[in-house]
Amino acid sequence: MNYIFGPVFSRRLGLSLGIDLVPHKVCSMDCLYCEVGKTTKKTLERAEYVPFDTVKDELREFLSYKPEIDYITFSGYGEPTLFSRLGELVRWIKENYSYKLALLTNASLFHREDVLQDINGIDIILPSLDAATQKTFKKINRPSQGLNIEMIVEGIEKLIKKGGSEVWIETLFVKGINDSEEEIERIGEIIHRLKPQKWQINTVARPPAYNVVGLSFEELKRIKKKIGYPATEIVAISKAEKKKMPISEIKEEIYNLVKRRPCPIDEIASALGILEEEAERAVNELLSEEKVEKVLFGNIPYIKGKV
Ligand code: SF4
Repeated sequence: MNYIFGPVFSRRLGLSLGIDLVPHKVCSMDCLYCEVGKTTKKTLERAEYVPFDTVKDELREFLSYKPEIDYITFSGYGEPTLFSRLGELVRWIKENYSYKLALLTNASLFHREDVLQDINGIDIILPSLDAATQKTFKKINRPSQGLNIEMIVEGIEKLIKKGGSEVWIETLFVKGINDSEEEIERIGEIIHRLKPQKWQINTVARPPAYNVVGLSFEELKRIKKKIGYPATEIVAISKAEKKKMPISEIKEEIYNLVKRRPCPIDEIASALGILEEEAERAVNELLSEEKVEKVLFGNIPYIKGKV
């Protein structure tokens, strides 16, 4: 499989099958914090960057096993809306399957009517909004020439007005770049005005493309309180918070994961963002309650949920 990956477990979307619609590393931006790497082709041009028929063939094959997944997600190496046949692909999936669709996007093309048409039918759209001013936008997202922050905000506004999809805006905070009091307040004003179903705040959690650092969990909590938007979620979870997660919650998350996809302990720990010892403790309890079982695959013990 070249263009589909996973299913992978994430806190935001549960178990999702990813589709890469642009190769490494085609994007309309070159964000400081990008975990995929530096953008090598920065463009606003839409094209068939990956072969449409091959993507369909790979999906057809994978979905023939009727996997239990929460979403099929357009994400991956760069900006998925740059793929010019996105609309056709969305329609084909919707006509042939009943899976829910999600789109991770930088919102750079939502000012275009054809792109808004193409994403019709996608259940959840997760656009990024990391700045409120052009100066900060250029610093953090390093956008293609011709792209400005007004286009991003207006695009998200059009998307929300259009309706038909849930919209969860994500803001990723980078130390010393978009965390000034003024920038935070202005981002907050936009969020209050646009009223997305969720505002998710995050920070640098994986090796970034450029040398930047994230905010602490305490700082994210302060931003959440300062802005006071009711549907705010902190995506990044601190080690201290992870330790505070009650075992019952950890067990429930593990069970939800392994009943759909057997996993070794280390994979469970990284999927849930917890320590391996914690995952092991929770799994031992689930084993004694006979909710899960251990199966060997290639000499590696996998934890499998009993349904
Ligand atoms: S928009 Fe997404 S893929 Fe593109 S550079 Fe930024 S983080 Fe990376």
